[in-house]
Amino acid sequence: MKEKLVITIDGPAGAGKSTVSNALARRLSYLYLDTGALYRAFAYKVIEDGILPGDEKVLAALCARIELHLDNIDGSLNVFVDGANVTKMIRCEEVGLVASRVSAVSAVRERLLAIQRQAGDRGGVVAEGRDMGTVVFPMADYKFYLDASVDERVRRRYAELRSQRGSVDYKKVAEDLVVRDRQDQERKIAPLKASEDATIVDSTKMSVAEVVEKMISIIRGA
Ligand code: C5P
Repeated sequence: MKEKLVITIDGPAGAGKSTVSNALARRLSYLYLDTGALYRAFAYKVIEDGILPGDEKVLAALCARIELHLDNIDGSLNVFVDGANVTKMIRCEEVGLVASRVSAVSAVRERLLAIQRQAGDRGGVVAEGRDMGTVVFPMADYKFYLDASVDERVRRRYAELRSQRGSVDYKKVAEDLVVRDRQDQERKIAPLKASEDATIVDSTKMSVAEVVEKMISIIRGA
């Protein structure tokens, strides 16, 4: 296997991208690049500053002044906004939905593009998001598009949110997930879609370990 590969994993919400990407990165001793965390951190600041997600002018001004960076602390990825570690505050659906709104704005995507490329350009990275194989790392060595049925993705997202917060409304989780996917798929810039050269993995009936094994065997050419 060639050293220091760039591996991309794109796909809709709840498909298991984070868990799989994290596990794959650990297996290969690679950096796990969670690009959704950057969009979420940006959205967190939008909410905190009371900015309307549709106000492109104000969002562009925020792009010019915001300081965003990723840092690996004790083996896990942390995201910082203007010096504050917001890693734990960005996981709720409210932040996810605002991230999906603001991620359709070109100034925001451009602002985050450089950070993502800089983190991955030396290789040795598993980059996870929506446009990793299509836009951010079009020359990646291996590209995967991880999917699962809507029902399964809602079930997984519900279980994840329940373990974090206790009580969660299943119907609301389902609605939010569908809205977010539609927004991500229908936006004009860098919409969520499988790169033509990506391997599509349907994880509906697969465990995390099975998905990781399948990816490893493809990467190793088995
Ligand atoms: O992956 P995650 O759910 O954390 O992403 C939050 C939102 O950030 C997505 O719904 C999407 O709108 C946006 N995003 C994006 N491009 C990426 C990663 C995330 O537009 N590469």
